[in-house]
This record gives sequence, structure tokens and C-alpha cells, in this order.
Amino acid sequence: MIDGHIHADCRPYEDFKSMAVAGIEAAITCAHDPMRMSTSAVVLDHIHRILNNDFKRAADCGLMLYSAVGIHPRSISPDYQIVLDELPSLLADDQVVAIGEIGLETTAENEKTIFIKQLKLADELGMKVIVHTPRTNKREVARESLSIIDAHINQSQVQIDHVDNSIIDLVVDFKGLRGITVQPQKMTPLEAVKLLVDYGTKGFALNSDISSSPSDPLSVPKAALEMKLAGFNDSDVKKVSMMNVSQFFGF
Ligand SMILES: [Zn+2]
Repeated sequence: MIDGHIHADCRPYEDFKSMAVAGIEAAITCAHDPMRMSTSAVVLDHIHRILNNDFKRAADCGLMLYSAVGIHPRSISPDYQIVLDELPSLLADDQVVAIGEIGLETTAENEKTIFIKQLKLADELGMKVIVHTPRTNKREVARESLSIIDAHINQSQVQIDHVDNSIIDLVVDFKGLRGITVQPQKMTPLEAVKLLVDYGTKGFALNSDISSSPSDPLSVPKAALEMKLAGFNDSDVKKVSMMNVSQFFGF
């Protein structure tokens, strides 16, 4: 299995071990806002930690990490341009498979500016992007995010994430990947299965988004088990718990 969206920097070795024992072979760890990102140096140190420390910590436990790096909408430092300038060289790392997670949290003007700059960079470099949708005002923010995506990049390069019942109708025909985050306070494994029963498995991928919020490192295997119990065949389970992510990101 592959967990398509985690935050390894917030988690201990023990989680990586549990994930590996449960059959998760790889995960994508995304840049985010683990602390107050007061300057570009903090944002860059966070990204360097992912590339130089977390990859190794997970590998030591049998979990292969890939990464998405970029400026999360809650990680915008006043001197964010320095991070943007560094991004192309950070993206050149073999294990970096996307720009992310990026997007909008509140639709503030500076969030939009930085989101657009990163989408343009992804388009120029032919990189995939992982786009966050927030918990608050989710529908309104997701709608705005989708219109910005459509104006700046092909949907087929985008994973739109944290899709749930409140926004599924906005992404029914989405051409990229749709991430379903199974996480306490967000969505249970059974709710994820219900969504997959209603909308099919094409273009969907399960993830845990384990972070410093309440999280379950076994979200993906638990949702995969509930899928089997609900009567999904092995090929469908494999699609949303592994193949859709590996095909989309090319690993
Ligand atoms: Zn996340």
C-alpha cells in the first residue's frame, strides 16, 4: 500500500514501523506548517528536515518516503520569495515527486498570489501538485481553489486533497487525482468506503494526513479492510490504496 499524504516530521519512528508492518511500503510526506513560519529560513529548514532527516528515519523502519515540497498557505513568511527562488533546486531531488501541499486556507490575497506562482512553476517544470482544501469554509475555499487551478494548470497534474461529501460534487469530473483523507475528526474508514461506493474508485486515493492533529497511521490499511468487507474486489482496493498514487506520481 501507499499512503499518499502524510507529515512524517510530526511523527515518531514507531508510526513508520506500524505502517510498514501493516503493509504500507511507501508514503508521500508533504511540506506544511509544523511551527510558526516567521521567516523563509524556518520554511527552508522545515523542507531540509524532510529531505535530510525524515527520508532516512522512515527508511530505517522499512517505509520508503517520497515528498512534496512547497509553501503551504499557512506557511507564508513575509520573505516568501526566497523560498520560491529555492524551490526549483529542492524539486530536483529524486524523491521529491510534487509541489505541495499548496493551496488556499482562507482565500486571502497573498495566499492566492503564492498559490498561483507555485502552480505556474509546476506547469513550467511539468511537476505534479498536491492541493490542500481546509476544514473551515471548505466548500467556498475549494470552489475558489478549483477556479484558480483551471486558470493556471491542467487538472491532470493536480491531486486535489481532503475530498469529502461536502465538496465531492465539485470534483466529480476532476481529471487529476482526488485524495480521500481518513483521519479522526475528518472522516472514518466507513465514511470513506461509502464515498467510494457512491462514486467508484477511478481517480481516488486514500491517505491518512498523519500530523500533529489527531491521526491514525493505519488509516489506509483500515479503510482498505473496510472496502474488502463491503465487497470491493482486490483490484479496486489496490487501486485506491496504491496503484492510483504510484501511477499518478510515477513511482
Ligand atoms: Zn496535510
